[in-house]
Amino acid sequence: MIYFDRVSKVYSPTSIALDGVTFAVEPQEFVSLVGQSGAGKSTLLKLLLAEEKPSDGKVFFESLDVHELKKREIPAVRRRMGIVFQDYKLLPTKTAYENVAFAMEAAGKTEEEIKQDVPQVLELVGLMDKAWHFPSELSGGEIQRVAIARAIVNRPDLVVADEPTGNLDPINAWDIIKLLEKINELGTTVMLATHDKEIINTLKRRVITLEKGKLIRDEKRGRYVL
Ligand code: ADP
Repeated sequence: MIYFDRVSKVYSPTSIALDGVTFAVEPQEFVSLVGQSGAGKSTLLKLLLAEEKPSDGKVFFESLDVHELKKREIPAVRRRMGIVFQDYKLLPTKTAYENVAFAMEAAGKTEEEIKQDVPQVLELVGLMDKAWHFPSELSGGEIQRVAIARAIVNRPDLVVADEPTGNLDPINAWDIIKLLEKINELGTTVMLATHDKEIINTLKRRVITLEKGKLIRDEKRGRYVL
């Protein structure tokens, strides 16, 4: 599903963000990406999302060379990836329901489909009772649930979560991780970038560790050792 083939990203001679990184992710895996600040996690995700181009090497998503795509082809490919950020990025003037519905409208879905799928996905993340609340009326954990609902509503093959628990207390953070596990069990590949040692050590899933742009460890049931 994802294949990084000797990928390097050099922003400037003194800023080598990724250095010869190679790994593959199979469909339905749950992979955590760890590393200290500056290790290259965000750069790796940006290359996958075609927001940046590699200086060397190739990035494949479902056998497509991401950086050979034409500009107009990129949105359709990105729609096959659901993205969750640390800082939510919900629209403040829309309710939970409307934020999720908006992602479906943007993907060209019909009214029928929207009416059917939005309640289903809000139910899945446990927020149906707050469907008509605005982000300002929701807690951090609830907002992140809406963001996850929005990321999965178009049934992506992959969910990319970049520090999704960064702004949450430990209890809410766990709920978000459990939700990502549930989504994974339902058949979606999950790629989680995190700093959180507790989470990594409890998940006991595959862990890819970056250090100064190099992939230094790739373990099936990894632990966070930095
Ligand atoms: P992480 O997400 O693990 O904190 P990043 O991918 O953000 O790491 O950064 C990796 C390295 O690349 C850092 O040294 C950072 O300063 C550098 N870097 C990231 N983005 C840019 C950019 N746009 N221009 C120059 N250097 C960058």
